[in-house]
Amino acid sequence: AAPQPFRNAANTDFTKSAARDQLRAALKSFADATTSSRLLVRRGDRRPLIIGGREISDREFLPAHNPAHPSQVLGYWARATIADADAAVAAARAAQPAWAARSANERATWAERVADLLETRRHELNALEILEAGKPWAEADADISEAVDFCRFYAAEIRRIDRPRVTQPVPGERCVERWLPRGTGVVIAPWNFPLAILCGLTIAPVVAGNTVIMKPAEQTSLVAAAFMQVLIEAGLPAGVVNFLPGLGEEVGDALVRNPNIDFVAFTGSRAVGLQIWAAAGQTAPGQANLKKVICEMGGKNALIIDNDADLDEAIPATLYSAFGFSGQKCSALSRLILLDEVHDRFVERLLAAAAALPVGDPAEPGTAVGPVIDAEAHGRILRMIETGRREATRAWQAVLPTAVQASGGHYVPPTIFTGVKPEHTLAREEIFGPVLAVLRARDLDEAFAIANSTDYALTGGLFSRSPRALQRAERELVCGNVYLNRGVTGAIVERHPFGGFKMSGSGTKAGGRGYLENFLFPRVIAENV
Ligand code: GLU
Repeated sequence: AAPQPFRNAANTDFTKSAARDQLRAALKSFADATTSSRLLVRRGDRRPLIIGGREISDREFLPAHNPAHPSQVLGYWARATIADADAAVAAARAAQPAWAARSANERATWAERVADLLETRRHELNALEILEAGKPWAEADADISEAVDFCRFYAAEIRRIDRPRVTQPVPGERCVERWLPRGTGVVIAPWNFPLAILCGLTIAPVVAGNTVIMKPAEQTSLVAAAFMQVLIEAGLPAGVVNFLPGLGEEVGDALVRNPNIDFVAFTGSRAVGLQIWAAAGQTAPGQANLKKVICEMGGKNALIIDNDADLDEAIPATLYSAFGFSGQKCSALSRLILLDEVHDRFVERLLAAAAALPVGDPAEPGTAVGPVIDAEAHGRILRMIETGRREATRAWQAVLPTAVQASGGHYVPPTIFTGVKPEHTLAREEIFGPVLAVLRARDLDEAFAIANSTDYALTGGLFSRSPRALQRAERELVCGNVYLNRGVTGAIVERHPFGGFKMSGSGTKAGGRGYLENFLFPRVIAENV
């Protein structure tokens, strides 16, 4: 049968009580799990490393915590050593030629099986993500959909790219372009989209015929272990993906420096991204390839509100973009730029609407804002709020419900500052938490200038009713994802290829056409016929 055109997976409709019951049941199954239950990850499990298809369990095990109830240990993951990193690279290298020798269609079919299994296990994965990352229901669910989309989209892409393309039709010569996998790479993934980004960074190189070492974020190693289990159930040959949970500064660093790797696919902080970029630039004697880095880092994303904007649309979009998943997205809105005339009216309505944000336990369906990921993030964001109080006006801060305070969870009250100036720390440094800085601009010229006056270039947007203003934004906003009259988060695979430039990343577009080319070398064949 001809391959189906790509279609995005549907999110769960939690307005239906049956869907809510299913997720509640999944949360309960995890809590009650016994050793006989057939979950991908059970409560209290000790998840091993997997190198060359072999489980390695005689390592130190570190606990995975629930950020909403930090005393709750969900399970444990093995801490890989530097020797394990070397062994994983060797295993991945050894497996690569045979994997590359399989047809693109066979690799794509495997990725589609992964997608199907993720969909079958959707509620179970949702529950795990809610518990380990502290993600509210709808956002965890969207993360599963995005992972499914990455599998199906990259499967379709590799089938397309695999067909030789004629570079120029000329009589007497057959000239075609074909692609070759780069080899073996390292995937270093973040905790904020614990399934989707890990899955996208892994499936893209792997469908393209590469083999990888998958190093998940420490904070979400159990979601990653569940994903590894799905890859195996889908028929993963030994060594094609090697599961190496561990500490970034230990094994992450060792993997990136290993001379036997050909690429690094990274999403995470700017500090780590820049280290990887530098380390990959050092070429050891005898090294086969120059190391390619696909790097997606932070943002300091701006949304401009024009004087004639539709406030009924702009206010919910602002709140969701700034505070969805507690602002822990590199796409999150952190600088709201209000034009002079609309400023006071907008702030008044924004603060009133913010007061209704449900802050609470992410395991409850009504929660919009849960905890932040860990104690370290909690401290860092609270210090940023203190800095903000010295620099600007704290116009609003949520009062945490008593139950939330008593839980001991890593909750940061969503906070809005007004009177922020472009030179303030609050307007310059990425916060990665539920903190919104409001700036004021005389006119659109000044608003665009402020929006672009940052080290980052990831997402940005404008709310306006004026076609001229919207056209200007389209040309003038310097960022990878420009959003007009909508929020600035929630990119969808194929529809909104995602990624930025400047200090936000290397200009690649996850979930977009051309992304797989990052993991391939182009070759041209010319045959005298
Ligand atoms: N793709 C996500 C979005 O559009 C953000 C990814 C990230 O935070 O790394 O909201």
